[in-house]
Amino acid sequence: LNVPENPVIPIIHGDGIGQDVGPAAQKVLDAAAEATGRSVEWMRVYAGQSARDKYDENLPDDTVEAIKEFHVAIKGPLTTPVGAGFRSLNVALRQKLDLYANVRPTYHLDGVPSPVKNPGAMDMVFFRENTEDVYAGIEWEAGTDEVQQVKEFVEGEMGFDETMHDGPIGIGLKPISEFGTKRLVRESIDYALENDRDSVTLVHKGNIMKFTEGAFRDWGYEVAEEEYGEDVITEDTLWEEHDGEQPEGTLVVKDRIADNMLQQLLTRTGDYDVIATMNLNGDYMSDAAGAQIGGLGIAPGANFGETRCLAEPVHGSAPKHAGKDKANPTALILSGRLMFEYMGWDDAGKLIRDAVEESISSGKVTYDLERQIEGGEKLKASEFAENVVENIHELS
Ligand code: NAD
Repeated sequence: LNVPENPVIPIIHGDGIGQDVGPAAQKVLDAAAEATGRSVEWMRVYAGQSARDKYDENLPDDTVEAIKEFHVAIKGPLTTPVGAGFRSLNVALRQKLDLYANVRPTYHLDGVPSPVKNPGAMDMVFFRENTEDVYAGIEWEAGTDEVQQVKEFVEGEMGFDETMHDGPIGIGLKPISEFGTKRLVRESIDYALENDRDSVTLVHKGNIMKFTEGAFRDWGYEVAEEEYGEDVITEDTLWEEHDGEQPEGTLVVKDRIADNMLQQLLTRTGDYDVIATMNLNGDYMSDAAGAQIGGLGIAPGANFGETRCLAEPVHGSAPKHAGKDKANPTALILSGRLMFEYMGWDDAGKLIRDAVEESISSGKVTYDLERQIEGGEKLKASEFAENVVENIHELS
C-alpha cells in the first residue's frame, strides 16, 4: 500500500465495551504514530447502536464506502442478537468489502497469566476464511415455505421416523467454493513463506462433511502442490522423501481433522504454526487459542481483502462490562498494530507491542488480568492506555 505519512483512517468504536476500548486504543495508536514521525487523521464512522442512534440504520453505506475509499480501517465489536433480529453486521461488513481472510496471530506476551503450563509455546497465526461456510447466513426458519418444500426430502435423507420426529426443522446451507478456499490457502502460504514459518495446517472435518470440508482440504493441497516450487512440500512428501526431517528453508503443508486439532492446540501446541481453515472452525479455534494466551482481552485480529484491511479484535461487545471503563483495550490496540504493519509502519507496530508488554509485565493491567497476577495493579481501560502511552514515550 502507498500510505501517506498522515493518512485518513476510518474508525468504528463499536457497541458495548467498544465505547471504552475504542477511545483508549485510539490514544495508543496516535502516540505510536507520533513517536515514529507520522500522524493519523481519524474519521469516526458508525455501525451498530451508534449508527441506529445517528442514522436509524445498522450499517450506513457511508461507513462501507469510507473503508473502500481509504483501504485501511479499524473497528471495535458489534453486538448481534441471538435467534431473531438482524443478521451479524460483522459478517455483512466482511461480505460487502470482500474481506476474505480473517487473520488472528496468537502469541503469548511476557507476564500474561495463562491456564496452560507453557504458554510461550503458543505462536500461531490463524487464517480463517471469512465469507463462506455456515456463516454465509443462508438459512431458513422452521415452518417457512422454503423449508416445507424440502422438509420431506431432508427428513428422508436423515432417516427420520415420522412418528418420532414429526416437528419443526430449520435448515441452513454450507457453501465452500474452490475459489474461496484457494485464495485463503494461498494467502496463508504466502504469509508463512514471507515470515519464515515452518508449516501451514489445513484444518477440516472432511471425514464427515466430504464435499465441503473435504473439498477444502483437497483444494488446499492443490494450491500447495501446483502453485509453489520445491520450497513447499506436503507432509506425505516430508515422510516419503525426507524421513520426517524438514529440510532447511522448506514449508510443510499438512492437514488435521478439526476435533483432533482442538485437543492438539492444548497438548502439542508447539507443533503448529500457521493454520488455514474455514469460517466456523476458525472462529472456535482462535477463541480457544486466545484463552491460552490470557483470554479475549488480549487477542488481536484483522480482516484482509485484495487491497483492504479492517482490523478488529477477536472479542465481542461483552455487554455486561460496557460503559464501565474497565475492559481490556489490549486486543484492539494490538489489532491496530496489525493495521499499522499492513500500512508498512512496522516500527510503530513494534513500539506498540513492546509498550504493551512493558505495562503487562510490570503488573499494570485491567481487571481481567489483575485477578490472576500476584501483586498486579488494577487499572481502568483509560489508565492502562495512558500507561502504554508513557511506555511508548520512554521506548522511542
Ligand atoms: P464477548 O467476547 O463479547 O465476551 C465474552 C467474555 O469475554 C466477556 O464476558 C468478558 O468476560 C470477556 N471479554 C471479552 N472481551 C474482553 C475485554 N476486552 N476485556 C476483558 N474481558 C473481555 O462474547 P459474547 O458475550 O459471547 O458476545 C457478546 C456480543 O458480542 C454478542 O452480541 C456477539 O454477537 C458479539 N460479538 C461480536 C464480535 C465482533 O464484533 N467481531 C465477535 C464476537 C462476538
